[in-house]
Amino acid sequence: MPKVKETVLQLDLTALEHNYRHLRSKLDHGVKFMAVVKAFAYGSDAQKVALHLQSLGAEYFAVAYTKEGVALREAGVTRPIMVLHPQELHLEDIVDHCLEPSLYSHHILSAFLKMAGEKGFKDYPIHLKFNTGLNRLGFCERDTVHLLEMARQNPAVRVASVLSHLAATEDPAEREFTLQQIHRFHNIQKRMTEALPAPCMAHLLNTSGILNYPQAQYSMVRSGIGLYGYGNGADEDLQMRPVATLKTIVAQVHHLEAGESVGYNRAYTSSEKRTTATLPLGHADGIARIYGHGRGQVMVNGQKAPIVGNVCMDMLMVDVTGIPCKEGDEVLVFGPGHTAAAFAEGAGTISYELLTGISQRVARQYHYGPQDADP
Ligand SMILES: *Cc1c(COP(=O)(O)O)cnc(C)c1O
Repeated sequence: MPKVKETVLQLDLTALEHNYRHLRSKLDHGVKFMAVVKAFAYGSDAQKVALHLQSLGAEYFAVAYTKEGVALREAGVTRPIMVLHPQELHLEDIVDHCLEPSLYSHHILSAFLKMAGEKGFKDYPIHLKFNTGLNRLGFCERDTVHLLEMARQNPAVRVASVLSHLAATEDPAEREFTLQQIHRFHNIQKRMTEALPAPCMAHLLNTSGILNYPQAQYSMVRSGIGLYGYGNGADEDLQMRPVATLKTIVAQVHHLEAGESVGYNRAYTSSEKRTTATLPLGHADGIARIYGHGRGQVMVNGQKAPIVGNVCMDMLMVDVTGIPCKEGDEVLVFGPGHTAAAFAEGAGTISYELLTGISQRVARQYHYGPQDADP
């Protein structure tokens, strides 16, 4: 890769392919793969990622909100796209773009049935989401009676799948709770799939679920973070490859005397001679203020440089005392060798939040294969 000349998010499509195949290798024969590409494919580029995964054979896509699904259709994604959190306001857009809603309450289900009836649809695919303990969205187990009746009486729709979401698949301490959730889902999907007039899929597992609860794959799994190279655990991370690498450059170097302060609110004061580098990267790019005061560390010429003081909107300053560097030098914020998970942990947060926060102001660059190979 040529050296960067500005802040860029480099996306390695070979790593994406590696992660996809790795996760896929964990699945039993015939289990479908739903690629979760919500939130700009976890802060990368939903269109590019979805088209690549479509070409690799991902059977289904999931987005959180309707407009994310519309953007995928416009980009040429032809496989089914499930909308995890449809809102009443956007039901027309859903059907206009052949998106499939995951319906989670009587209110939203009735609204969808009304529209589907009025439009004279037949067998429009819908998904029914059940709450098994996350207590976020979903019908409860006793709703199955009513839902089965609805399915029998409404030729306008067809229940394509039933799903639920697990609360703590990455946490071994919550294994008992997770097994309870799986048990609840097992009963629900059994009741539904046995009584529905047409074949119906069932899906429950997210990335950590695929890795830790392979017995609960049912007909499909939903994976997001794993595709982008993070498995919610050090061992798993070793088998995956980060797709996103955030790089920037040194904009200027400052030599401080003892007692000088750096940045807004004079949040850092040097107690001795120090050297700082200013980077063209700030909270408007997705490096939140929480990473200030040394909680975030970047790599400058192979050495760790902590962020000093407060992160500004468009810039931040790092301590490069003792690290040879000059204006224009490349800086690794996170990526292979200095992962988003490790960067996020310094501030008590998670890779999901860091990755999805990288703003649209940061240019995206695409490449195939490791950073030091020629594209
Ligand atoms: C975001 C999301 C996923 C993907 O979870 P990962 O941990 O990123 O694999 C799966 N299912 C639902 C319902 C989600 O909201």
